[in-house]
Amino acid sequence: MKRPKKLKILLLLVISFAILSSLYLYINSEKKYDDISYSEFMEYVKDGKIERVDLNDGSRIRGKFATGEYFITDNPRTENFKEILLMNNVKVVESNGSSVIAQGLTFLLFIVGIGVIGYFVNNNMTKQAQKEMALMSNVESGNGSGDVFTFDNVAGNEEAKESLKELVDFIENPEKYSKYGARIPRGILLYGPPGTGKTLLAKALAGEAKVPFFSVSGSDFIQVYAGLGASRIRALFKKAKECGKSVIFIDEIDALGKKRKGSLSNSGNDEGDRTLNALLTEMSGFSDREGTIVVAATNRVDTLDEALLRPGRFDRQIEVGLPDLNARFKILKLHSKNKPLSEDVNLEKLAQETSYFSGAMLENLMNESAMIAARNNDININMDHIDKAFFTVLVGEEKKDRSSILNKDKKITAYHEAGHALVAKKVSKENRVTKVSIIPSTKGMGGFSMNIPPDKMYQTKKDIRNSIMIALGGRAAEEIIFGIENITTGASSDLQKATDMAIKMMGIYGMDEELGLVNYEVVLGQNIGSNSFVIERLKKQIDSLYEETKEILITNEKFLHQIATALLDKEVLDESEINVLASKKCLAV
Ligand code: ADP
Ligand code: ZN
Repeated sequence: MKRPKKLKILLLLVISFAILSSLYLYINSEKKYDDISYSEFMEYVKDGKIERVDLNDGSRIRGKFATGEYFITDNPRTENFKEILLMNNVKVVESNGSSVIAQGLTFLLFIVGIGVIGYFVNNNMTKQAQKEMALMSNVESGNGSGDVFTFDNVAGNEEAKESLKELVDFIENPEKYSKYGARIPRGILLYGPPGTGKTLLAKALAGEAKVPFFSVSGSDFIQVYAGLGASRIRALFKKAKECGKSVIFIDEIDALGKKRKGSLSNSGNDEGDRTLNALLTEMSGFSDREGTIVVAATNRVDTLDEALLRPGRFDRQIEVGLPDLNARFKILKLHSKNKPLSEDVNLEKLAQETSYFSGAMLENLMNESAMIAARNNDININMDHIDKAFFTVLVGEEKKDRSSILNKDKKITAYHEAGHALVAKKVSKENRVTKVSIIPSTKGMGGFSMNIPPDKMYQTKKDIRNSIMIALGGRAAEEIIFGIENITTGASSDLQKATDMAIKMMGIYGMDEELGLVNYEVVLGQNIGSNSFVIERLKKQIDSLYEETKEILITNEKFLHQIATALLDKEVLDESEINVLASKKCLAV
């Protein structure tokens, strides 16, 4: 409401400032003063070349030559100076004082103008800063009006929960740990897709430890006034320190700590760097005994500046992935606890139909369903409501038939991962496959297969060949099941791994008959792969290993189907399940 008035004043000030400053410049620049020595001046006076002198009591005096030009020289300040001038027919302007006053006044006005404008700008800035401060210190305190969260409010994410639970004890009894000389992580980095419960986990950590929760988001720091980001970070930590122990949560930390690409783009984000440095400084300023933990979250750990991940900073990194079938069921159950569900709602089935949903999407789904039921004044939330809500939640994504959503992708992923797992089990009995999943991980593509090669000091040629075949197993399964035309991009990182291993095996470890015992790295430097002879051998080797891999899968195709089918059904298989599926003969498929 006050805005227009203020703006007018500001405008007026700007205009008067412009006029004054141009006036000032005019006065000073229009006349070019020739600086002459006093003796020269006296010569000119005697020669009648001076028309006028402006007398004042400053250290310098100005005047005008008969030619019309201006000069400046030292003021002798002698009492008879005026008389000498007058006797030499020089006009003396003594009103000069007033001119000085006028000039002084102009100058004063000029200063005042600047001052006032400065004040306004500054005032605006402080207001902005205050506003942002207020925004930032939007402290969600665990014991304040906000809800208190505990780990019971987080379903699934078992590994992340376990990691964080250890820290609760540290926050409660930091002295205990410092007594043992244990170094406690100062910063925890939670990474994973949006809506998977990272914020929730941080809040739960604070809630469990019964300490206040402070949160800011890295994106709040983009485009703030220079230096403001850093001062806000300091203010945040100061506030947190005043509260004693606490959990400080920094969401979207990637907005602050983006990886610097070369020195050139460095200059582009100085402000971000300054904010980041302030953060790191504050973090290292904590002593282990304080019991404060900084938790940061990001969707993209790969773009983070390494400086953030160094020891003493965010040195513990916890993946918070999309929920698997079981976790989805738990999340759905959690978020329908206080909702009247009709008999026909089968949460287990719903969990099956919601693969790739994040926790936030599941929460949203149950909430939307409740909204629809309420709007209809129905007694319970039934399957119709949930069906309708389903599409609301998926807005932005293509509206497909729910059962077919991503089903094709899922099937490809299942066979791909089953391929890796089966090859691993078949090439060597010593290989353990501890987990296979078709839930995308942040690092991998569609899913992952975790295999642990036997623990030994040396790798044999056979071991490396086996590893290459395991890496090729995904693509091989795709080709066998879906045909050569339907192979996907999903194998790109596998191929990278396979190629890397093959290069090392042949070019560095001297394990290829044709390439012999030459270490090609010594000969060719890092560019082993640029040598056409090496490439030729490499291709031959990988091609032949690929054929071998396909043979293994074709011979054991029924196991491939068994594992893939089980994956489609359960999404995640553990070691014992895989062992059964990879060896049990004649399971109904
Ligand atoms: P992120 O910080 O990873 O983007 P949030 O923690 O903000 O995700 O999650 C948003 C909301 O989604 C939570 O408040 C909660 O209601 C729901 N949610 C997400 N993950 C879970 C989970 N594992 N268990 C229960 N609720 C969850
Ligand atoms: Zn793969």
